[in-house]
Amino acid sequence: MTPVLIVGGGPVGLAAAIELGWRGVPCTLVEQGDGQVVEAKMFATGIRTVEFCRRWGIAGRVRDWGFPRDFPFDNVFVTTLTGYELARMPMPSLAATPPIAQSPENFAHCPQFIFDPILAERAKSFASVTLRYRTRLVSFIERADGVECVLEHGGKRETLKAGYLVACDGFSSGVRQALGIEMQGDAMLNRSVNIMFRTRALSALHDKGNAGRYVVIGTEGPWASLTAADGVERWRLMVYQHGDFDPADAVRRAVGRDFPFEILTVGVWVRRNMVAERYGSKRVFLAGDAVHVMPPNGGLGMNTGIGDAVDLGWKLAAVHEGWGGEHLLESYEPERRPTGQRACAEAMKNFERITPRRKFAAIHDDSDEGRELRRELGAKLAASMRNAWDNPLNTHLGYRYDASPICVADVAPPPEPADSRVYVQSSHPGGRAPHAWLADGRSTLDLFGRSFTLLEFASVGHAFEDEARRRRMPLEVVGIDHPSIAQLYERRLALVRPDGHVAWRGDSAPADAGAVLDRVRGAVRSPILEEETS
Ligand SMILES: Cc1cc2nc3c(=O)[nH]c(=O)nc-3n(C[C@H](O)[C@H](O)[C@H](O)COP(=O)(O)OP(=O)(O)OC[C@H]3O[C@@H](n4cnc5c(N)ncnc54)[C@H](O)[C@@H]3O)c2cc1C
Repeated sequence: MTPVLIVGGGPVGLAAAIELGWRGVPCTLVEQGDGQVVEAKMFATGIRTVEFCRRWGIAGRVRDWGFPRDFPFDNVFVTTLTGYELARMPMPSLAATPPIAQSPENFAHCPQFIFDPILAERAKSFASVTLRYRTRLVSFIERADGVECVLEHGGKRETLKAGYLVACDGFSSGVRQALGIEMQGDAMLNRSVNIMFRTRALSALHDKGNAGRYVVIGTEGPWASLTAADGVERWRLMVYQHGDFDPADAVRRAVGRDFPFEILTVGVWVRRNMVAERYGSKRVFLAGDAVHVMPPNGGLGMNTGIGDAVDLGWKLAAVHEGWGGEHLLESYEPERRPTGQRACAEAMKNFERITPRRKFAAIHDDSDEGRELRRELGAKLAASMRNAWDNPLNTHLGYRYDASPICVADVAPPPEPADSRVYVQSSHPGGRAPHAWLADGRSTLDLFGRSFTLLEFASVGHAFEDEARRRRMPLEVVGIDHPSIAQLYERRLALVRPDGHVAWRGDSAPADAGAVLDRVRGAVRSPILEEETS
């Protein structure tokens, strides 16, 4: 018997295991593969993911894993690396990256072949986590008191009873299919190809300088992007359309000449935009690519999946520990499905912005027409890429659980800024609790995680501690005597959930603190769910 069985050892399954392990909840993760990352899809680790990594004690490793600190992350738009430069979106190197005012962390370039092993190592470090590789979930039966799972390892089958099943088994999720849950949206935007290759010769061949990404533009418009994987010798050429071509020819076409290189992997993948109609059942929950797939433009897929794992993690822990209410797990879908839809919509906008609708016949011409075309197209592409890659804080930090049955809204939620990069911190319930530096050098975010946290900016007298004790619900009260942080939080009291989202706020004690706690721990059926089912 295991309280939680996680299926899938990709980044989302590993994050779920860490989140549970960090909370001391016993869980078993099964992964059918051997844990090796053969093909790195994800390169861009979002700022919210790095904030979670901070809590798990691995943010330093994710930020600074050996990528050269002086290597700039510029996005450069070129006809070829040895051809014309159309435009440039400068992005600083690791060493020159300024801090972000709204976060103690920052975006990180951490390819999956580095990121997944860091997660796996952290997951293994918890005594309550068991990782089982080369082990496949074959089938399961959901019962009222648990989930009976059939596993296969080395040709042998066994049955394992789990309290809950968390399926992080990717887009082809067998668990989702077994539950009969459909994916809704566009199943085929295009077929693309990732070509990983190795060379140390590249930077000496051209005059564009080192850059995080070169977007390569031909007469058909942007047709590929070349990304620095390790800043030394590993590169990824992503070709946007899959046709009949030789991968080595595509590499030579992007660079504009022949040079010595070794192809490491070639992977064809489908660009989709889909969200599952449901995120699970009573005891089986789906997370990550199993419930949302989107164009990788803007690097949102995995980051959204890690958010799923974090949302589910504290709720499963609360139920396991006995203080989570009987409706707590029901809040997973109304919180995370809109978040998945929001990420898909943003990724689609990013994809459409760089998808050409016409031909650019004169793009390579040394003529006035060619020059004007390159100037115009370059400016347009650079502006549109900014939304995806130039610190899109609102995209990564601004998702909110406004329709959550376990958040207590007070006034109308703040409006969504039109610019993905504009993020205004707010303590409005449902959103991420604001970051500010405390006098002792910690971030306010460092106060959250293990329990609910009541931030007290003025002494108003309340019964939260007594009521929490009565419910055996972990709650820490933290007094903060700091006018600017008090102003940022807008109210004298703010109740923050273990995942760092605001659950309730107020200027005075609520008439019934116990009722607020019952709502935020899912012990009462909320008016929102009542409405939906009546
Ligand atoms: C080209 C490309 C670039 C991308 N770049 C980014 C980026 O920069 N940032 C970002 O956030 N996202 C990015 N993404 C998306 C990101 O790669 C995915 O969202 C992420 O890998 C999904 O993780 P996951 O753990 O949900 O699923 P997966 O990584 O697909 O892992 C699922 C795991 O489940 C295992 N499994 C399946 N069935 C079973 C079973 N029955 N039993 C046991 N194990 C099973 C599989 O073997 C697999 O290891 C990119 C995607 C692509 C295609």
